[in-house]
Amino acid sequence: MTNNTVFPVKLRETSKFDSVDFNNLSFGSIFTDHMFICHYDKGSWNNPEIVPYAPITLEPSARVFHYGQAIFEGMKAFKDADANLWLFRPNDNHIRFNRSATRLAMPEVPQEIFIEGLNQLVRLEEKWVKHDHGASLYLRPFMIATEPAISAAPSKSYKFMILASPARTYYQGDVRVLIAEKFSRSADGGVGYAKAAGNYAAQFYPTALAQKKGLQQVIWTDSNSHEYIEEAGTMNIFFRIGDTLLTAPTSDHILDGITRKSVIQLADSLGIPVEVRPISVSEIKEAVKKNTLKEIFGSGTAAVINPICGFEHGGELFELSAEEDSYASMLKNKLMAIQRNTVPDPFNWRHLVP
Ligand SMILES: *Cc1c(COP(=O)(O)O)cnc(C)c1O
Repeated sequence: MTNNTVFPVKLRETSKFDSVDFNNLSFGSIFTDHMFICHYDKGSWNNPEIVPYAPITLEPSARVFHYGQAIFEGMKAFKDADANLWLFRPNDNHIRFNRSATRLAMPEVPQEIFIEGLNQLVRLEEKWVKHDHGASLYLRPFMIATEPAISAAPSKSYKFMILASPARTYYQGDVRVLIAEKFSRSADGGVGYAKAAGNYAAQFYPTALAQKKGLQQVIWTDSNSHEYIEEAGTMNIFFRIGDTLLTAPTSDHILDGITRKSVIQLADSLGIPVEVRPISVSEIKEAVKKNTLKEIFGSGTAAVINPICGFEHGGELFELSAEEDSYASMLKNKLMAIQRNTVPDPFNWRHLVP
């Protein structure tokens, strides 16, 4: 994967590092000293470089502001006990990024830029990747349309950038969710499978309504019948009924999460039965009533695995009893151990940052 590309670097004069309180990081609000940036014009990517993290200038007519051509990725870098730096399945993020790009009529970003940009930025910012339990460097590759023109057409120019933000995996407290009966995050033939910025914008309002009712997130259901469960907020979703794990199949309205597929592979390797099939709301309500629904959890890069302890549907609140031997915490610990190189990686998921 390495091709020894060395992008030019403009170093920041003084580091912000000493002013950062690593014990009180709020997710995604502090950025490292540098960022990666690259420009697309006349059919090719040009001038990849690492520069000090700073504001960028765009014309107010830049297409991203008007028609939302914007996509992103989310991934993490980890440091092991010997100070090696690791990425987790970065090629999968690269492939997904280009899938999103194609759907939004944006150019693909070649591997030499995406992967080598990540490698070089993480290497330069290595002191920001802490080795303490739960610490990581969150990486945010993204692309925006920059052409100054507001006719409704895809942009001819773009910026691809990577930001890095020190992070920590928190226990997020009790999470209760609202199962959507009216709103949806994606539809057949839509952009739900892409990490399009607009998918997030569309979720904020229904999520805020759920939060007013004291529920932290929305479980999205299919836009046709609202009977089939798709995702939990911005995470994929798993149910444990008896000792079996259930998750919905990916489709054009469900995002193909890298944590989701890692959980499935890991559970398989541990002999946990996994069923990937449509899951109906009635089946889940039935299972709570019969006491066979033992766990619900979301999966995604930021929280890894986030347990959900109850849900509301049809005006009724359903609570799960706490599970002693939870799959959620067992799978989370195993996944985090692989990510941090404290156990072998039989799946070949870790990528050593050169
Ligand atoms: C990013 C994302 C996920 C999680 O994907 P990971 O690769 O596991 O981080 C799940 N659902 C949605 C809608 C997402 O945007």
